Amino acid sequence: MQKTFSVRTRSRCCLVDVTGEVRGAIDELGVTDGAVLVYVPHTTAAVTINESADPDVARDIEKTLGKLVPASGDYRHAEGNSDAHVKSTLVGCSEILLVRGGDLVLGTWQGVFFCEFDGPRTRRMIVGAL
Ligand code: ZN
Repeated sequence: MQKTFSVRTRSRCCLVDVTGEVRGAIDELGVTDGAVLVYVPHTTAAVTINESADPDVARDIEKTLGKLVPASGDYRHAEGNSDAHVKSTLVGCSEILLVRGGDLVLGTWQGVFFCEFDGPRTRRMIVGAL
C-alpha cells in the first residue's frame, strides 16, 4: 500500500514542511499503528526530520549545506548539478516514521521536510505502509 503526493518547490535549494501531507497519506492508507516509509524518488532531492517550529532552522540547514557542498567544484557530471546530487546522498532519500493511534510519532518540535536541491520544480514523495 502506497500513496504518492506532489511537492511544488519555489527555489533551487529549500526545505518544505510536508508533515501535513504525510499525515494525510497515513489517513488514506489507514495505518493506525506501525510504521511507514517516506521515500523521495529523485536524485537531487531528499527527506529529513528536523525542527518545524522555528523556520530559521530550515534556513540554517539550507545555508550550511550550501557551504559544505558548493555549487561549483571539482565535478565531472556534465549536467551542472553535482552539488544537488551530493546533498541528496548526504541527507538521504528515505525516512522510517512510527505511527501510533493513527498519527505520526514525532517529538514536539519535529516535522518532516522535503529537501529540494535542484529546484524549483514539481516533485513526488511516496508514503508506503510497512
Ligand atoms: Zn544531474
